[in-house]
Amino acid sequence: MENENIDQKNINNFQLVIASKNIHKIREIKTILNELVPNIDILNLIDFPKYVPPQETGSSFEENAKAKAIHAANTLNRWVISDDSGLVVPALNGEPGIFSARYAGKNATDSDNRKKLLSKLAAVNDKDIYAYFECCMAIASPEGLKKCVCSKCEGRIETKEKGGEGFGYDPIFVKHDYNQTFAELKEAVKNKISHRRKTLDKIVLTIESLASAE
Ligand code: IMP
Repeated sequence: MENENIDQKNINNFQLVIASKNIHKIREIKTILNELVPNIDILNLIDFPKYVPPQETGSSFEENAKAKAIHAANTLNRWVISDDSGLVVPALNGEPGIFSARYAGKNATDSDNRKKLLSKLAAVNDKDIYAYFECCMAIASPEGLKKCVCSKCEGRIETKEKGGEGFGYDPIFVKHDYNQTFAELKEAVKNKISHRRKTLDKIVLTIESLASAE
């Protein structure tokens, strides 16, 4: 998808920093952005080893996404895109939700988090456990927040881990209308249908117009 009103040549020098050190998120966002806005230069927080991100103290994905983008843009004096995302299981009152990355503790691995979720779900009677991924992304410049959008990807929890692709809760999440977990799908397929893709689809025109105005 490309905005025909925007001169692609004008956005050639635009640099956007992904406010994340999570190599999986970075890879997915970079791959999708390379497809949607091929002319921009994409960096990430691994390129800025001295930068210390803020604590995630918000009570929603949206609040956290905004805080991450504003803080990084202001500190690094750059254009930034953030991603705050996670898995929501309504049968567990929304857990793990905004605590997805640290569900089983501060230094928990993805595997620890999945184990904790599956052990909690063992007490849920329903065989078909509805869940969704949510992803909010915010764009900020050193002057402040420009835009924040969110999307959901709905599906169910598979109680046995399957597949070796992806990260996080991918081995136990099956999107509606699919019969394989996200970790069984090829990365290129996940990148066409994921919560992250849906969110980037919504924000891409903003990136193009901000970049061309710089
Ligand atoms: P954040 O870095 O605070 O936004 O936390 C993101 C966490 O949500 C990750 O560490 C994963 O546990 C989970 N998560 C977000 N997106 C995905 C995804 O696409 N697949 C699997 N897990 C995800």
